[in-house]
Amino acid sequence: MPIPQTDTPSLQHAALRRGEILRQLGLMEEVDEREFDELVELAAALCGKALSAMTLLDEETQLIKARMGFQGARTMPVRESICQYTVQSNQLLVVEDTVADARFGGPVGGGIRFYAGTPLTTMDGTAVGALCVMDTTPSALTPQQLRALEVLGRQLSSRIQLRERARAMADLLSERERAREMFVTILNNVPAQIYLKDETGKLRFYNRKVADRFSIDENAWLGKTSRDLWDEPTAERILQEDQAALESGKPQETFLDLKEADGRVSYWRTTKAPCQDSNGKPVLACCSIDLTEQRERERHLHEIQEELEEANRKLSSLALTDALTGLWNRRAFDSRLETAVISAQRSKQPLALMLLDVDHFKSINDRFGHSCGDDVLRNVATILNRTTRADEAVCRFGGEEFVILMPDTDAQGAMALGRRIREAMHAFHWEKEPVTISMGIAIWSRNWTSDDMVDNADAALYRAKEGGRDRFICYNCETQVV
Ligand code: GH3
Ligand code: MG
Ligand code: MG
Repeated sequence: MPIPQTDTPSLQHAALRRGEILRQLGLMEEVDEREFDELVELAAALCGKALSAMTLLDEETQLIKARMGFQGARTMPVRESICQYTVQSNQLLVVEDTVADARFGGPVGGGIRFYAGTPLTTMDGTAVGALCVMDTTPSALTPQQLRALEVLGRQLSSRIQLRERARAMADLLSERERAREMFVTILNNVPAQIYLKDETGKLRFYNRKVADRFSIDENAWLGKTSRDLWDEPTAERILQEDQAALESGKPQETFLDLKEADGRVSYWRTTKAPCQDSNGKPVLACCSIDLTEQRERERHLHEIQEELEEANRKLSSLALTDALTGLWNRRAFDSRLETAVISAQRSKQPLALMLLDVDHFKSINDRFGHSCGDDVLRNVATILNRTTRADEAVCRFGGEEFVILMPDTDAQGAMALGRRIREAMHAFHWEKEPVTISMGIAIWSRNWTSDDMVDNADAALYRAKEGGRDRFICYNCETQVV
């Protein structure tokens, strides 16, 4: 027979909550469970009734989770169940005769006349079902029997609540496990060696990057100190730095050259952060970065940079020097002459210029070959370098011609140099045959341009050639020395 049903929002809400809890705990399954069966059996025995049951009610369905004295379907709609009243009122319900009770007006569930049910509640007090005893004739329970029914109901409730606790614990554990997994994933994948030491320097944890870097498994170094792992000076240094970081109470940055077991040396930057473990004991959380490759790259870059600078230096010197003799070239000479003339104009100090031309050089080339001619040019350059002062610029003017710029030098000084050069050329041990050189000297006069200097020295040189070579002529002083 249909049982009139009151359906209010708060009842609907309670039904939803019941259903949610029962599903979470996996209780709405038609599976016999001994711990429930036994208490249901006990209820029947203590109350002296042939029929007893443990029912669980979700939003729609009542499940007879455990039963005594009857068979048949284990589920029925909630609205047809008598236990719904026990669950809704969340207190002991005794219906001595369903026929006499206005709510039912007749036997319930195929002949039930007597019903006594006590609610089964969860940790938060939600009633999710009932423990009930029933009879097919009108009946009653003694106060002791009612008390026994309630006590057994509470026992069943405790079983349900135990499952809730177990479930909450499992949730917590899986949450913790998830958090731990996330933590380990992060630690194992950050591009740094991360490890934790206790205050005696023993390794309590290290991440996978440490294991990979040193080819060890994830436990091999646990409990070890630097003394177990590195040579003594290195270990002592690490331990001292650890101690200093622990004492300072602040993160410290350290740098270390580490000689490893295989002999290679790596270079590390480490941040050591003092903190406390879950027991309040001081520990050192460390994060190391292997800078070896970076340093190697920097060193390589530095080398390249130095090579580039050297190449630049060479290039700029190449631009100003002569490849064959290593003397200043024509370009360097032009700029030096320009500067020297301006400086002479200002300072009123004398300035001398000597143009030199190897005598009969073409014949040397022709008879002994071009490379022998080159040797002669290099030897002339050496002689000129040896004979001049550091402030006198010796340049290759072109071909077998040279030029010497002599600052602060008057005719006397210039001619003295001409003499020394001539003597040095004579004294030199020439490989094939003696080589001589002719020189034309110009001493700067007011208002001369640098071109005038060169032209006049050239004119003097011409006269030296004309005069028989192997000599110098001074343009302004008309002095010829053989
Ligand atoms: P003079 O005494 O009148 O100066 O006679 P010369 O033969 O020295 O003069 P000339 O100007 O006729 O010959 C210069 C020669 O120098 C011509 C050229 O082939 C040679 N020459 C120029 N530059 C070089 C060089 O770098 N190496 C060699 N081996 N020969 C050079
Ligand atoms: Mg010449
Ligand atoms: Mg010549």
